[in-house]
Amino acid sequence: MSENCLFCKIARGEIPARIVYKDDDCIVFHDINPAAPVHLLMIPRQHIVSMQDITDEDSVWLGRMMAQAPKIALENGCNAGPDGGFRLMANSGIEGGQEVLHLHFHIIGGKRPWKGQQVTIA
Ligand code: 5GP
Ligand code: ZN
Repeated sequence: MSENCLFCKIARGEIPARIVYKDDDCIVFHDINPAAPVHLLMIPRQHIVSMQDITDEDSVWLGRMMAQAPKIALENGCNAGPDGGFRLMANSGIEGGQEVLHLHFHIIGGKRPWKGQQVTIA
């Protein structure tokens, strides 16, 4: 844990977030400024700055996290099948576009009408 890290504070419950999933490895919550109909952030509980800091020893918990991501995406509004799907993305480092310096995976999905795709309104 890092005292002043925004995402550590969310993991500790000191800053509110719309949490949709948690386990011993990770927490998943809604991005405060969603870029798509579904925009979640998946963070490890431990403070790791970015993918640049991942070592071989991290592969077990990181693998467990990755195995949860598709299920969490579908449970939170991403669509199944080849026409659906989601984007799983980790900006890493300043030149990688990372703004919050605690490793996080964006889970982004849902209909993208701005891409000219068919939208079905029930
Ligand atoms: P990055 O640019 O580091 O890959 O992504 C950081 C993400 O964190 C951005 O999409 C931003 O909207 C989100 N974010 C920043 N501050 C907060 C916050 O306080 N709460 C939540 N839920 N998301 C945040
Ligand atoms: Zn942190």
